[in-house]
Amino acid sequence: MPMLHSLNVPRSALIFLVAIFLPSLVLGWLALRTAGEQRILIERQEADLRQAETDTLAAHIREIMEQKQAAFSEIVRGLIRQKGAGELAEKYDLYLTETWTEGGIPFAVAPDGALAFPPLSRARTNEAYAQFFANSSAFLSNRITQEVFQSQQALVVAQAQTLPQQKTRSKDAATADSKLGSSSYAPRNVLPQINATANEAQLSKVAPALFNFQDATENAAQGTLARFVQNELEVIFWTRPDPGSNWLFGVMLAPPQIQAMLESAFPDQRPRDAQLAILNERGRPVVRQPQDFTAEWKRPFVATEIGEALPQWEVALYLTEPGKLTDSARLITLTLILLIAVALAAIVAGGFFIARDANRQLALAQKKTDFVANVSHELKTPLTSIRLFAEMLADGRVTDLKKQHRYLRIIRSESERLTRLVNNVLDFSRTEKNRPSQTRKTFDAREPITHLWENESERLNERGFTTHWQADPGLYSVNADPDALSQILVNLLANAEKYSTEPREIELQTYLRNGQLEIRVADRGRGIPSALIEKIFEPFFRADDSLASGVQGTGLGLTLARRMAREHGGDLIARAREGGGSEFILTLPLT
Ligand code: ADP
Repeated sequence: MPMLHSLNVPRSALIFLVAIFLPSLVLGWLALRTAGEQRILIERQEADLRQAETDTLAAHIREIMEQKQAAFSEIVRGLIRQKGAGELAEKYDLYLTETWTEGGIPFAVAPDGALAFPPLSRARTNEAYAQFFANSSAFLSNRITQEVFQSQQALVVAQAQTLPQQKTRSKDAATADSKLGSSSYAPRNVLPQINATANEAQLSKVAPALFNFQDATENAAQGTLARFVQNELEVIFWTRPDPGSNWLFGVMLAPPQIQAMLESAFPDQRPRDAQLAILNERGRPVVRQPQDFTAEWKRPFVATEIGEALPQWEVALYLTEPGKLTDSARLITLTLILLIAVALAAIVAGGFFIARDANRQLALAQKKTDFVANVSHELKTPLTSIRLFAEMLADGRVTDLKKQHRYLRIIRSESERLTRLVNNVLDFSRTEKNRPSQTRKTFDAREPITHLWENESERLNERGFTTHWQADPGLYSVNADPDALSQILVNLLANAEKYSTEPREIELQTYLRNGQLEIRVADRGRGIPSALIEKIFEPFFRADDSLASGVQGTGLGLTLARRMAREHGGDLIARAREGGGSEFILTLPLT
């Protein structure tokens, strides 16, 4: 049987591992993975949502630029109608600033391509004009080509009027170039967090093309050009108000003027939990909302390029609490890990308890098997001696009177042993099935104890035991089943006898203490190891359970005795006796 035991544990552990623990682990892992994916999904959704906000804003800024350009063209057309192109070109700045309040340097290009305004003389008196001549006159009078960005609006018009293909650099063309690995895509100034891994997002979609001014403005009535002059953005609004005369009027805007135009570009209502900024080509904020916020400018949550009208400028959105998104995602993951850990712990604990229970059942089954062997042996031994001595007496072969008496006593004590055994087995099955105990009555316990002690001590003395009963005087009034009380004492005395060694000494004490009757049976026998002091009360438990141990038993006597004591509101405990041996103390409430 112990073999089965040791085999069983690893096997059930294996079953537990394969059938419960591993699948649970896999499920936990799947749940974690799903949570991870969910987190990415949430982040992406948030990014998409925010991207839509910056996209809208970028479109709105393009619109503002278009409107300003259209307003400029309208003003110039009005002036032409009033003054005519030639006169306007002469005092262009004076006339223009009457209605155009956005600032910038006005310029006019004559039909022959030469710069008609400002006159060169201005350069001597005015620093801004001096700069203009230094940086722009060559380009505007078509003497050189430069990299310029054409706004979408101008392109659409220009393309519709069949501008030579090789000169157009539409967005699509640029995209196609990038696919071919062309270097025309410059890296962006900012790196939106959410797209940090996507290579494409690091590249600017806004690309310049090489033009001279004539070609860039050819075939369109008006438009916007942008270029970088000494690393500073410069935006040119231009218009050809009179197709017949081919005069071109424009205004050149520097960053301060553009900034002023965009001051009111943001919506009144701020986006939820976020801050906005328009970043220039160096990734520095030009306009922000709220006005005083700061952030790691080059690392917005999302950003959108404004486009050719303001190349390398971007609308960027910064989350007020950048950690919030990851924090909540982390919290979800942590909660999940915790739940999985708890579930796994529960599974392991459950498995452990099941295994323990199974082992207990196994041990119990084992004990029951032993019990059957013990009971049959216990029945056989007294029966054999009863039969032997009865036959001897019946044959009339034993004539010695003393011998006859001795044989009869043996027959009596052996049948008592049988009775005790049968009683124990019957009572055990009764208490197992939870049947109510036998009839109780209130009586003086001293009487049955005295009767029992007389019989038992006589028998024990004959077998060489010294016996002693120390009794408190007084009434031992208890409410109990007298048979049960006797049976407990018989079991205790039988054990004291069975497990005895030298000196053969058994002591009975009856006390009245704390409203209880205390009955103590003490011996000088082999004693009980302290680890087993409680175990011996378990059904079928025997400290040394081998037939070879020489002492027969069923392991039921103490179980029953304790159960009965407790049924009566008392208890039965065992302890080691001072000076060797063991003692059992039965307590019963006094009435
Ligand atoms: P049984 O005596 O039939 O084996 P019990 O339930 O009466 O069953 O006792 C359980 C075990 O407790 C015994 O097998 C024995 O090991 C131990 N035991 C009981 N009484 C004594 C005692 N007086 N001294 C030493 N051991 C005892």
